[in-house]
Amino acid sequence: MDVSIIGSGYVGTTVAACLADDGHGVVNVDIDEEVVAAINEGHSPIHEPGLDDLLAEHAGGRLRATTDYTAVRDTDVTFLAVGTPSRDDGSIDTSVIEAATRSLGEQLAAKEGDHLVVVKSTVVPGTTDELVIPTLEEELDAPVGESVHVAVNPEFLQMGSAVENFRTPQKIVFGTTGNQWALDQLHALYAGVIETADPAVVETGLREGEMIKYANNAFLASKVSLINDIGNVCKEFDVDAYEVADAIGLDDRIGERFLRSGLGWGGSCFPKDVAAIIAAAEHAGYEPPMLNAAVEVNDLQPERLLDLLADHVDPAGARVAVLGLSFKPGTDDVRGSRAVPVVEGLRERGATVVAYDPVATEKFREKHPDVEVAFADSAAAALDGADACAVVTDWDEFAALDAEFDAMASPVVVDGRHVVERREGITYEGLTW
Ligand code: NAD
Repeated sequence: MDVSIIGSGYVGTTVAACLADDGHGVVNVDIDEEVVAAINEGHSPIHEPGLDDLLAEHAGGRLRATTDYTAVRDTDVTFLAVGTPSRDDGSIDTSVIEAATRSLGEQLAAKEGDHLVVVKSTVVPGTTDELVIPTLEEELDAPVGESVHVAVNPEFLQMGSAVENFRTPQKIVFGTTGNQWALDQLHALYAGVIETADPAVVETGLREGEMIKYANNAFLASKVSLINDIGNVCKEFDVDAYEVADAIGLDDRIGERFLRSGLGWGGSCFPKDVAAIIAAAEHAGYEPPMLNAAVEVNDLQPERLLDLLADHVDPAGARVAVLGLSFKPGTDDVRGSRAVPVVEGLRERGATVVAYDPVATEKFREKHPDVEVAFADSAAAALDGADACAVVTDWDEFAALDAEFDAMASPVVVDGRHVVERREGITYEGLTW
């Protein structure tokens, strides 16, 4: 099929590269010229394992990028994969998806034949019905459902393993109005994935499709907050929360995944999506106590880490090494990273901070210019002369650190991720173990 993808960030680029690899002709439309140039040169604009290889193989062939929206007219299907950030009050900011939908509608008004618009961005229930469809109709000057059809296909990939996740999903969700042509197009698009990975294909309505994405993220974020809450209780009783988690995870009603207690969740999705669905629920008249508690526990964890550190070293005037800036290993994404409250909390307590991350330093510098922190080129350089160390991201290389701790002025290690080995010669504190 000929596919256009509006927005070429983490989701749009991954989906484009994987669909091109499955044999579809794909064009990425993005307003950012640098992103477009990178893709056309066969480089990924984002750090994601496997993506560079796919782009190198398909750019200039089945995959291209452009800033020119007219490209959508030569395609059968368009994915909307632009960002849906939070407003200050946590509610979803739909201005980007509205602008992208309008630009798309302008072009589709000049196109002959059927076209499917697929909302892949994460949007609160009702957005497709109440914003995307009316915006398209305004531009088309015709009702959606005549030649232009609309579907919802939320994305469940995880950053750091996005390519693999897209290719081997456990489920694919197709939200439609029940229109068979739209469903057929979606099945054809995903034929390669369905054939190789045999995922469950959930066919549902537009609003249900939108809500499934939020329920998925809210459930996972709440699971982590619950094990963090339990972990904080464990720590009070000198109990290792990881031993407890290993045992309860054997119960298949609980399941072993997402039971790693520690500093909490971040990234571009969990914080924004949990906040957005809480705000949407409140707007609709329901205050969700469990989801609010999940956020509260998440906000607590950096404080707990800083209190543990202060039990051993007075942060005022201390030099503290922060290991890890990305919100999780395998990505350079620093959005919602727990490194921000940790570094800010250390600064408020009077510490100077030297941070190291294997890939995320540049992004951190760019996204958080106001956070006062010096950057080191290696974990060893960050630790050299430090009075304490806070482990924020569970990069594998931190598990291999050993003699590097000997160069600290005082070897206090507060581990927020259960990654550093407890060993002779260091004062080690696990956040929940
Ligand atoms: P992103 O911010 O990385 O990328 C968005 C891209 O859209 C940028 O390259 C930007 O230049 C481009 N853009 C902005 N306005 C545009 C316009 N008018 N026309 C064309 N392009 C435009 O976003 P992302 O992380 O890829 O997320 C996209 C959506 O997918 C969001 O709704 C997000 O919640 C959802 N999602 C993200 C993930 C993830 O892991 N990042 C996972 C699942 C779902």
